[in-house]
Amino acid sequence: MKNANTLLSSAGDTSGENEYFIPMPKGYQKGKTKYIIVMGTVMSGLGKGIFSSCLAKLLLDKGLKVSPIKLEGYLNVDSGTLNPFRHGEVFVLDDGMECDMDLGTYERMLDHDLSRLNFCTSGQIYNSVLNKERHGDYLGRDVQMIPHVTGEVKLRLRTLAHDSRADVVFVEIGGTVGDLENAFYIEAMRELAYEEGPNSCCFVALTYILEPNTLGEQKSKAAQLGIRELMQSGVQPNIVACRCSNPVSEKVRQKISVYSNVPINRVVSIHDSASIYTIPAMLREAGLDFEVLRMLKLEDKINLRKERDEWAKWCSFTDKISQTKKPLTIGITGKYTSVRDSYASIINALEHAGITLGGDVNIKWIETTNVNDGNAAEYLRDVDGIIVPGGFGVRGTEGKISCVKYARVNNLPYLGICLGFQIAVIEYARNVCGLKDANSTEIEPNCKEPVINILPEQKKIEGLGGNMRLGGYDVILKPQTLAWELFGKSERIRMRFRHRYEVDPRYIEKLEKAGMVFSGKAPNYPIMQILELPGHPYFIGTQAHPCLTSRPLRPQPMFLGLVAASLRKKYP
Ligand code: GLN
Repeated sequence: MKNANTLLSSAGDTSGENEYFIPMPKGYQKGKTKYIIVMGTVMSGLGKGIFSSCLAKLLLDKGLKVSPIKLEGYLNVDSGTLNPFRHGEVFVLDDGMECDMDLGTYERMLDHDLSRLNFCTSGQIYNSVLNKERHGDYLGRDVQMIPHVTGEVKLRLRTLAHDSRADVVFVEIGGTVGDLENAFYIEAMRELAYEEGPNSCCFVALTYILEPNTLGEQKSKAAQLGIRELMQSGVQPNIVACRCSNPVSEKVRQKISVYSNVPINRVVSIHDSASIYTIPAMLREAGLDFEVLRMLKLEDKINLRKERDEWAKWCSFTDKISQTKKPLTIGITGKYTSVRDSYASIINALEHAGITLGGDVNIKWIETTNVNDGNAAEYLRDVDGIIVPGGFGVRGTEGKISCVKYARVNNLPYLGICLGFQIAVIEYARNVCGLKDANSTEIEPNCKEPVINILPEQKKIEGLGGNMRLGGYDVILKPQTLAWELFGKSERIRMRFRHRYEVDPRYIEKLEKAGMVFSGKAPNYPIMQILELPGHPYFIGTQAHPCLTSRPLRPQPMFLGLVAASLRKKYP
């Protein structure tokens, strides 16, 4: 009788003679890469990505190669069409993939650029299964959820393992156990553990411990039921991570341990903390890193000297979190003011810069629908710096223009991001160049002075969907400018983009003659990427999204510059 092991070498047996269907990339070695699979129970939004990225960081520091992947349940092929109000910000990778904000958490925690291989949706899986079906790849078989759809999921994970040469692949499954849309992912993971063999997969159930105010004690029933649901899917968790506002009591951990067959030392408390950057230390103190290494038989592969150095570097950053810092307030104008997840990268970038410079950054959200030149001061008098972030559509743009005017005239430090860069151009064109009708064709399609206009290459593909200039592009910096100084006098840098409109090249000369300096440009096209105003304490804007590439130990220079200038303003 054939067994799963022998069939692994005859990958993708579709002859119909047996029930095995195990597609694999060429050259893949079973059991070589380890998998840590993180799933949520009780509710979503518990921070699976944060947990997973923090554990991945601890292994990375020990010299292991790690690679994360997020498996999303929804049918969208990427996150480009998702509303950030419902789903959090759309994070853009260097290769142009528009993905879930968790990928940002991984990039920041691991200080590593990810690619489209690290992000998978049900839509991508079904797309690829249906394409294979049309292509005749299933050789006359009826195409089924098991084994074909689950096989496709495993193929994605193994391809990532193989191509990234990771020692450990971190698999984060979106949503919660019990959701219809992610059930096939959990089944695929169960199959993966069986096929890869013992000590290859480690399952983590991230759960939530309730602590109702009326009772004043921690309750574990919801967590227990969630874990039972996971076990009913044939998955025995190896680790239970308990999210809670306060440290989880010994008693509750014992209950969960008994109920879920997980030894107590692998039932850990992940309670609220001042910053996500202190969570690696929480996991380390719970000894989770070594538990995982033992389980996956990776102890011999680690480099303790490297870990000591990396941990010292990390602590030199996190130690500053608890130190007393100088408070300052940054105003952010934004449409999605009620959901902080829509601006996750900006908040993170401000946190990196603040911690590095000893500033405690408070954010004041400014809804600009009712702001105008007459009342802007009322909104901005108490802020030390201001950001106009990226955005789409018309609402609140006139108010944003008034905010930028206030910042320019009153020497208030300003950082314009993407739409914020375009708004700064419109404001300057109107109020300094005297082009009263200046606007963006996104806001006013037939405006007389379209200083911001659709990119020529975008015009051709307009209306087709996925029609933005996306991903990482090089930017050439002009020597002796603020941007050049901020980026350590580099002449070529790389930034990430997500836009459809740009400064219309016909207006560049006029704007420059009036004093605006375009200090960053695309190498081969007249696309303006960074602007600044000499003589102002800090006025800079970029067509890119600099927040996407800020990392805790390498804060993004434009954010550092903003926080530094705001601190100088508040503490002269
Ligand atoms: N809506 C503007 C554009 O498409 C700005 C985009 C953004 O801020 N991401 O160019």
